[in-house]
Amino acid sequence: MVAAARAVETGRPDALVQDAYARHFVRAAPACSTWPVHPAQVPGGESDPLWGRLGRYFGLRTRVFDDSLLRATAAGARQVVLLGAGLDTRVYRLPLPGDCAVFEIDRPDVLDFKQHTLDALDARPRARRVTVATDLRGDWVPALSAAGFDATRPTAWIAEGLLLYLPSAAERRLIDTIDAHSAPGSSLVYEVKYGTETPAVRDSPVYRAARDRIGVHLLTLFDPDPRPDSAHDLTTRGWHTKVRTPFDYTDHHGRGPRREPDDALAANRWVFAGR
Ligand code: SAM
Repeated sequence: MVAAARAVETGRPDALVQDAYARHFVRAAPACSTWPVHPAQVPGGESDPLWGRLGRYFGLRTRVFDDSLLRATAAGARQVVLLGAGLDTRVYRLPLPGDCAVFEIDRPDVLDFKQHTLDALDARPRARRVTVATDLRGDWVPALSAAGFDATRPTAWIAEGLLLYLPSAAERRLIDTIDAHSAPGSSLVYEVKYGTETPAVRDSPVYRAARDRIGVHLLTLFDPDPRPDSAHDLTTRGWHTKVRTPFDYTDHHGRGPRREPDDALAANRWVFAGR
């Protein structure tokens, strides 16, 4: 879904992000081979709750997290860890320093699919890309260290579209682990949902459209545990944190989703932390 959203975003005249690889991932997976990869295939445009509004949300999120990563490398970070990297192509798309190492952590089947698709395109990373197939609910640091991660160097951590799906205990462990392996100068950006969504929100157009049109039951993917306040937790450990809504960035960029009644995006927060 996120790759399809990035593909559509890439074709918009006012695109927030350019991801030339996204459409290839969508077309390579039989389950989504009929999903849109261009705005012309989204007849409702931005009023379409799924590929319009939610799609634009993913485009905006990608852009905001891209900008945060580029700020981190401009400040000197030469180590990036993408937690739940999925079909993220930052190491192929962004002007990262050539001496930067980008570790992509995800499940083996996801990384295999991604590799296969990128190999077919003869895609070349712009920095050193290292894939790490491991489960983020367990002890993933040994696999990351074995891949060359060095906890004494500043790291830019990104958890984009991940914590929503993890049990709260796994989120706590993940934050503990990041904290314990972040040298001064490190940064972390992640997405969470705050609070519990009301029945009206759970019945809102985007959840219905995803379920009825493409068979994706988003609400069953989100972990039902009450969410920990990881931003507060990080603050007590000496990190500085900023919590923002997506709408803050819609205002900033002049495009993206705007608030609406019973809004499935209203609980989403993007957290920027640094130490
Ligand atoms: N960060 C990517 C992006 O924004 O395009 C991917 C987001 S996708 C919604 C979530 C990713 O997290 C998937 O690729 C999934 O395989 C990965 N993931 C979920 N649970 C995981 C776990 N326990 N261990 C490793 N990866 C996991």
